[in-house]
Amino acid sequence: MGKIKVKKEKNFELKKQDILTGSRVLNSNTTKNRIEYFIDNVESNLSYILEKKNLNKKKELCEKFIKYRNLWKEQPLNIINGNKKNYKDEIKKIRPLCIDLEVASICDLACPHCFREYLATPDKIIDINLAKKIIDQAAEIGVYSIKFNWRGEPLLNPKLPELIYYSKKKGIIETIINTNATNLTEKKSQELIDHGLDYMIYSFDGGVKSTYEKLRPGRFKKNSFERVIKNIQNFKKIREKNNAKFPYTKIQMVLMESNRNELDEFHKLFQDHVDEVTVTLYSERGGKVSDLPEKYQKILKHYLENNNLSSNTPYMLDGNNNLFISKKRKACGQIFQRMMVTYDGRVGMCCMDWGAKHNLGYLSEKGFNHKDEEKKIIRKVQNKENGFELLKDIKIPEVFNDPKKDVSTLSKIWSGENLNNVRNDHINNRVDQIEICKGCNSRDTFEWVKIA
Ligand code: SF4
Ligand code: SF4
Repeated sequence: MGKIKVKKEKNFELKKQDILTGSRVLNSNTTKNRIEYFIDNVESNLSYILEKKNLNKKKELCEKFIKYRNLWKEQPLNIINGNKKNYKDEIKKIRPLCIDLEVASICDLACPHCFREYLATPDKIIDINLAKKIIDQAAEIGVYSIKFNWRGEPLLNPKLPELIYYSKKKGIIETIINTNATNLTEKKSQELIDHGLDYMIYSFDGGVKSTYEKLRPGRFKKNSFERVIKNIQNFKKIREKNNAKFPYTKIQMVLMESNRNELDEFHKLFQDHVDEVTVTLYSERGGKVSDLPEKYQKILKHYLENNNLSSNTPYMLDGNNNLFISKKRKACGQIFQRMMVTYDGRVGMCCMDWGAKHNLGYLSEKGFNHKDEEKKIIRKVQNKENGFELLKDIKIPEVFNDPKKDVSTLSKIWSGENLNNVRNDHINNRVDQIEICKGCNSRDTFEWVKIA
């Protein structure tokens, strides 16, 4: 096939776009991988304790955990590379590996790089009975893990420990949260350990006070660098005092222009207080992470012009300063791995579908009137209510898919028409035909060619 000619634009300028910054993990001081950590410490995991420390169960649990982690990569690949005509039959044989259950859609921070600052997100917590119903459904179909957050701060739901314990009792092998740690008091820390949290990821952007407080401002009261650090340090002490190994703790910082020079400080702050310190370099949480440094803009512009490529061509600079461009999308793994559930029981497409714009179905009738709740948030911003000042740019999320207003189940939605239509487009090279995917900047859904 000959080279595709793209008409050269007059006044060729690189189009402003979210930089698809590459290497997801820029640097990390991981002590162990997740599988090793689980196997080495299984005796202190609540799943094993709940089995009354039955030795036969120990092997079974380890095997289950290994299977779950391996399937994370294998499950999408098996279908994407398999017989495209039979994909629906294959989907019926598999299950989501993880459910992201939004126990709180409220957040006490207003980080400028977060989608919450652009899309109206109600300040709510999930109804406990709805949460338990969803956990029951997940356990019934053999889901391996539940992550108890999506668009908000999970520690703001006081029932979180209860829900974690409920899931572990139902056989969920891994319980996870992402947290900003602002509300990680000593009491809450103890509860999370006691109730069987397995994996806790702290989000903390910045290595010094001024940067951190600028990137993670409080909505209702000033957020404090010192207090959050203390919470994280205390957590480790409490875990040690309990002689507990879970939850495994990781802290991550998203690299941005404003914290680019604080990597060393960030590592020093936390390396003795968490199991893993990670810096990521990508913009999956929305907003502009940074612009390309000038040197790379020149290389890119030159390359695109010389190859008659559009100035809209996606590009990324990875952690080692390798510059890539992409001419093609590729099927996304998320639609074969996980399901995202909002506090009111709507199933969104993936972790990039922040406004649940591509709704796949309902697990509760509570979600039927989500627009009313979103409008309430807009009114609070317009009325300049306390805690809404930083949300001035929010809009009501568009609707890309509007499923029938029926209460369904996780299992039916997983193998239902709404999600299968998306999968069909993905495995047949039509990713850009789906509105939400067209605008998605997740680097994993592009094929990359290194140009410098
Ligand atoms: S990035 Fe996390 S902590 Fe910050 S506003 Fe978004 S959900 Fe809240
Ligand atoms: S391509 Fe992006 S928007 Fe589409 S399913 Fe994947 S992560 Fe979601």
